Amino acid sequence: MTTTANDQKKLPLLSIAIGFLDCTRLDKDATTYLLLSQNSVQEAYEFSVVDLDAHAGDLHIATLDVAHEIDGDKYLDRCRQAIHRLNQYVSESWSEAASPIKNDIKWFVITEVPFEGNYYMYGTSTLSVISLANWSKDMAPPSLLEFILRQTQASIPLFLGAAENHYDTRGCIGDFTVNLGEAKQHVLIGHICHECARAIQKVHGHTGLDALRMLLNKSWIGSTDTVTSVAAIMKKTFGYDLYITKGFSTSFMEKVKSALLTGVVQEFLKLSGAVILAWALLKFGLKQ
Ligand SMILES: [Zn+2]
Repeated sequence: MTTTANDQKKLPLLSIAIGFLDCTRLDKDATTYLLLSQNSVQEAYEFSVVDLDAHAGDLHIATLDVAHEIDGDKYLDRCRQAIHRLNQYVSESWSEAASPIKNDIKWFVITEVPFEGNYYMYGTSTLSVISLANWSKDMAPPSLLEFILRQTQASIPLFLGAAENHYDTRGCIGDFTVNLGEAKQHVLIGHICHECARAIQKVHGHTGLDALRMLLNKSWIGSTDTVTSVAAIMKKTFGYDLYITKGFSTSFMEKVKSALLTGVVQEFLKLSGAVILAWALLKFGLKQ
């Protein structure tokens, strides 16, 4: 590819606010840490998080029953209303203490309310909403948090105005998917096909395309064995092992499995095995 005029100038940052709305089971702290970690590894996209549920009282947002389905377009309206009230609340209550939320920010809302027709995502060029209601552990891998991470990344072309959704499945973030099960390929592979790459580069240059490719390549998450990696900090601080935990939060058995795989426990088990072997040799070997 050749360098374009887009690459010569400093590209505007694409700011994406992640909102939690009607989330009752999701581990928001672990999710927030994972999503915001994307900010420290590239400079083309900036993610922020707003827990709309935590402000529900201030924003006068009525509680929704997460057990009942709702039309996705109606839920988009609910999100717009919540965001509008948030902007009002911030500008009225926090104007001296903090800067208001930028007008050109894009919103990616995460909810657990089910959408009618088994759909899991609705979106426009400024606001996308994803429902986790139909996600279940038998869909893993990937884990739920990897799924959320990938969907935030897949929303970038839409927010850039560079979405090239294609019907055929390529493992590309531009794959057209109707339900959660169909999204598995692009979540696992995280590819950008030539057609989608060309569209993204056209509006956001080489820098924007390279930054998105870097986010999609999950090497920045690292291994749980490297103490300073995102994966290790998620495990130690939030108890969410991306490579073992599957769902909304870590189950008891997943905690046990994760602990058994740590180096310290493995060394302890090896040492215990050596002690038992030495005892057996002494007890039975010396008698022969
Ligand atoms: Zn594509």
